[in-house]
Amino acid sequence: MPNDHPPEKARRTALITGGGRGIGAAVARRLAADGFEVWLNYCRDRQAAESVQSGIESAGGRCRLLPFDVADEAAVDAALAEMLKETTPFALINNAGLARDGMLGLMSTADWSRVIEVNLTGFFLVTRRLLPHMQRKRAGRIVNISSISGQMGQAGQVNYAASKAGLIGAAKALAREVARRNIQVNTVAPGFIETDMTAGLPTERIVEHIPLGRAGRPEDVAEAVAFLCSPGAAYITGQVLPVNGGLYMG
Ligand code: NDP
Repeated sequence: MPNDHPPEKARRTALITGGGRGIGAAVARRLAADGFEVWLNYCRDRQAAESVQSGIESAGGRCRLLPFDVADEAAVDAALAEMLKETTPFALINNAGLARDGMLGLMSTADWSRVIEVNLTGFFLVTRRLLPHMQRKRAGRIVNISSISGQMGQAGQVNYAASKAGLIGAAKALAREVARRNIQVNTVAPGFIETDMTAGLPTERIVEHIPLGRAGRPEDVAEAVAFLCSPGAAYITGQVLPVNGGLYMG
């Protein structure tokens, strides 16, 4: 007897760190539109995260909120343990990040450490907890959001560039570790994207140097992430995908 109402195609889950605002929010909306059940991490801004959640839900998607500081080991472990009781994510987007810019000679130890802890150690803490579960399923995509600054350096961003270059190296090493378990690990390296992070910067002067003649939008980055999480990217691992309007082609 044919089944007239086949069960809904099993939804895959995506965890996006720092998904309440900017690039992370665009990635969350984009992956939800692709059918992912989104688990949206945020740190301080609950209101922003709730607004992304309600946008996804009113478009017919599913979104759960998962607050924690990616740099707080105990908080990461507790939140992920709760999540893992219900689901193992197919996609992990390590997006949470911050900048504390300043010239190196004047940089405080606190600004150095916080940027490394959130941008790089955060990747380690979150990925370490999820990886064994992905490995057991023999399926998964991990996408790190690095930066053009980690590829070419930027004056005043020694801490940030170090953290973002670290993410690229970490993704390449991890890609080799887990390839045999059918898990792909890639990096997206955005250029100048208009978000809260870049709100104080002189957009017009920066855009003069961008071959495509405009600042990037969070959605431009989200498209690249969605591709790397799609079936079409099944043979891509250990790569860096720049989304920078041609600002750096190295
Ligand atoms: P925003 O400042 O707009 O958003 C940052 C996001 O990260 C927020 O959702 C914030 O959550 C979250 N976050 C910050 N610290 C933590 C933490 N400790 N734990 C969990 N979440 C945290 O930045 P963008 O959207 O611009 O940046 C997103 C990523 O893209 C970052 O990694 C950034 O380095 C990178 N990037 C951005 C570029 C740009 O031009 N904008 C260029 C290249 C890379 P909450 O609000 O809840 O605190």
